[in-house]
Amino acid sequence: MTARAPRLARRLLAPALLTFFVCIAIAATRAPVGAASPPAGGGEPAAIFMYHHVSPTIAPGPYARALTVSPAEFEQQLSWLRNRGCVATTVEQVMADAAKPARNCEVALTFDDGYDDAVRFALPLLQKYGARATFYITTAYVGQSGHVSRAALGRLLQAGMEIGAHTVHHYDLTTLSGAQAMQEIVASRRSLQGWTGAAVSSFAYPAGRQNAAVVNDVRAAGFANAVTTDPGEVSRADDPFLLPRYRILRGGGLALFAQVLAAGVTSSVKAQAAYDKALHAIARSRIEGNTPQLAESVAVALLARRFAEPIMKVNVLTIPEAAVAGIVLSGVKFHAPVSRNRFMADVREMAKTAFTAAPSLDEIDIWATVPVSVPAGEPVSGDFAVPTSKTVFSSVVTQQRRGLQTSLVWGTTYWDPRWLQRAR
Ligand SMILES: [Zn+2]
Repeated sequence: MTARAPRLARRLLAPALLTFFVCIAIAATRAPVGAASPPAGGGEPAAIFMYHHVSPTIAPGPYARALTVSPAEFEQQLSWLRNRGCVATTVEQVMADAAKPARNCEVALTFDDGYDDAVRFALPLLQKYGARATFYITTAYVGQSGHVSRAALGRLLQAGMEIGAHTVHHYDLTTLSGAQAMQEIVASRRSLQGWTGAAVSSFAYPAGRQNAAVVNDVRAAGFANAVTTDPGEVSRADDPFLLPRYRILRGGGLALFAQVLAAGVTSSVKAQAAYDKALHAIARSRIEGNTPQLAESVAVALLARRFAEPIMKVNVLTIPEAAVAGIVLSGVKFHAPVSRNRFMADVREMAKTAFTAAPSLDEIDIWATVPVSVPAGEPVSGDFAVPTSKTVFSSVVTQQRRGLQTSLVWGTTYWDPRWLQRAR
């Protein structure tokens, strides 16, 4: 292996880095629970859909583009649901109706994190279409710029919407001590109930992250249900504290509705197929290089693992000497707080995952970049004032074969000395 390969891969990748700020937080494969179990209520299945921003403009940040639905697109989705006789309502209502013997197509719409654009742009449209929704609020951000105010919470309730809790600080609850996790869960519910005077029964795990202890805490805190970010239909067999949700991505809502709700005939097998299809589509949007099949296998394997570090690009370049994969991570806005040790452990796990997905690879370069602002009018790669990127971490690992044995050999690792402290 020569030193040329990584440099070559790096040069080819750099200009395209910022074009693909798409969210990695696509859910991990949900086990197809009870593929043979009947849909909830015996009628048409229920599904829960997850939104973040509804806005004509896209907020800065690595996930904002994928997670921002325009008001026009949102209205099309509401219209699509109404034309097919699907009732859009709250999670609480879907759960209440699941116990009844038969029902029409019913879906819950949910909005995560408490962004003010969801109230500004989504609420009037929900009202126009007679639809309801659940808004999961992260309480520490209430009243802050870009987030809902306490007064807006009151307006949501008056309009028939449900307010659910999404913890105080949006930490990954599985990384906190038992006492800290309980505090995040209990305090968010207490604040919301105190501010609005209304009972809060629905909960959303930040980034969908939970384990048995966290689920028990949410149940013990007095909630009646909780949603994850794993895709799937709501079925009678589901644990009400592990309800699946489909993520609505910019430009993909109607296709997802059609897949999930078409003809009222769905099954968890079909949901799994829809998820796999979405995962491959996202993977394909992030691959580059002259070996697309290998790149897609690597990207799918990495995305399915839900690392805290967003995976922005996977490039596989087969050159005469070797097949080299470049994996580009966003160096900002991790899905969960990451320490230096955790970051390095994830990088090692990513390398193993990639080599397992594509055993013919010889080398993997993993690096993290952060956007660097460019003064207005300054040309960058032929554009004007488009942010460029700075590498803040890089490492290289090669796969060495001896007979049937293979081993991984790590090269030098570069860290920007001040980066990780500020990366959160
Ligand atoms: Zn969230």
